[in-house]
Formats: sequence, C-alpha cells, structure tokens
Amino acid sequence: MPDVLPVLTQLLEAFTAQRKLRALDPLERKIELAMQRAFRKQGAAFIAALNRRAGILSGRLQEAPGDLPPPNWEAIFDSVAASESLFAAGTAQALEDSLLVGAGHTMADFSVTGSFDLTNRRAAVFLDTHGAEAVTRINAETKRGLRTIISTGLSEGQSYDQIARSIRERYAGFSTPQPQQHIRSRAHLVAVTETGNAYEVGNRAVADDLVAAGLVMQKSWLDVGDSRVSADCLANAAAGWIPLEDMFPGGVAQPLQHPGCRCTMLLRRQPASVRVAA
Ligand SMILES: [Zn+2]
Repeated sequence: MPDVLPVLTQLLEAFTAQRKLRALDPLERKIELAMQRAFRKQGAAFIAALNRRAGILSGRLQEAPGDLPPPNWEAIFDSVAASESLFAAGTAQALEDSLLVGAGHTMADFSVTGSFDLTNRRAAVFLDTHGAEAVTRINAETKRGLRTIISTGLSEGQSYDQIARSIRERYAGFSTPQPQQHIRSRAHLVAVTETGNAYEVGNRAVADDLVAAGLVMQKSWLDVGDSRVSADCLANAAAGWIPLEDMFPGGVAQPLQHPGCRCTMLLRRQPASVRVAA
C-alpha cells in the first residue's frame, strides 16, 4: 500500500496556503484601491506645493545645480505627507479584518470555539502601532524614489518642468498595473504586504493564546511552491518544524519575510518526544 501521509500533508499545505490567499483577496483589493487614491492625492498635492515655489526653485536651480535651496523639496514633501494621510479608515478596518481572518483560520485548525479576542496583546499592539509605522515606511520609500529623480534631473540640468513631469509620472506608475506579475503595482504591493502581515499576526496571536493555555507549540514556514518564492523564504521552509519562540533562518519570527511575500506559517502541538533506544 502506498504511503498516504506525504500526499495528505501536501494536500493540507495546499489548502492552508490557498485558504489564506482566497480570504485575503477582497481585503487586498480594498487596500489597493485606497492606496491608488492616496498616492494620486499625495502626488497632486506635492506637485501643487512645488509649483507654488517653482519660481524660487527654478531660479536657484540654475544658479546652483545639484543643490536645492531651502525650503527644500524634502521639507515640502514632509509637510504634504503629514497633511495627506495614506491610510484611510477603510484601510485600518481591512487590516483588522485580515488579522481576524488569520486568527479565525488558526482557531478552526485547533478547534477553538468562540470569537477571537482583539485585546490579545500581540493583536492589540499590532493594530495600535502598525498603521503609522507602515505609512512612515511607505513615505520613506516614496521619498527615496523622488530623491533619485530630482538629483538625476538636477545633475543633468533638466528644467523644473521636466523634473515635475518625471515626478508626476512616478506617482502615476504607483497605480499602473503590470500584467503577468504576482505584484501588479506599488499600490498592490502595499495591499499584499499589509494584509499578509496582519493575517500572520492573527495566526501567531492564537498560537500565543494556546501557549498561555498550556500547549507546547511548534511552527513551520509554508511557501506557495512556485518559481517566484525568494531564497530566504525557501530557506525558512527548509528549516521544518521549529519551536514557536525561535527565529526562522531569515531572521523573522513569522511571515512575511519581505514585502510581497505570500508565505504563511503552519502551527502544531509539539509531538510527544521520541523515545531514545537504550
Ligand atoms: Zn515568502
């Protein structure tokens, strides 16, 4: 008789990975649309704020290429970023929903009944702090891209209008779909990353609750099994079952390993220790 256990394990893993992606899909879409709107708004506000100072900027640019005079564009960007929030209320709700989906799946796996308690410490800390941290990270990334555009423009002696056009195109590109890729655009990348992280926090939060209830838990890393899985994620998966408190080889306690990561965490009770033969 063929060994059915590996086949069953594979089926279960495929189910677990698919279940996550399917459940997060509508939440991802919600955040993606919100991010498209937010990037559009931020881009328009940034260009408008730059335009208000275009006379000063372009005059000084010609005098001192390679160096923007105060008030510099970074200060202008920061004030625009502070006044235009990237994450609307809908995004915060989608994050909470993603966390609840992750928690719900893990509760079902361990036959835990009732609804997940959002006062769970790990969940509460995540929901309190993560949104602001994510926005800071996203704005820093945008600023890095703008810095390249502006410094290249200046060193090539481009006019203010040319640089402004490049900035406008960069912002438009954040929402432009790239077909054939699992990440369609920057707005989509944010959506995949944020919902995925929230889901895994929910997953992990239930594991914490099980530990608190006296269980000894182990975790393993499950990738989606296609050719686009990163080397770090493959190494995490290759580590097999490890104690819940340990780090995966990639240096993270749980997925995601990186933005756009589609991996998930598997959990189980630590099996009874194998008896050592005398
Ligand atoms: Zn991954």
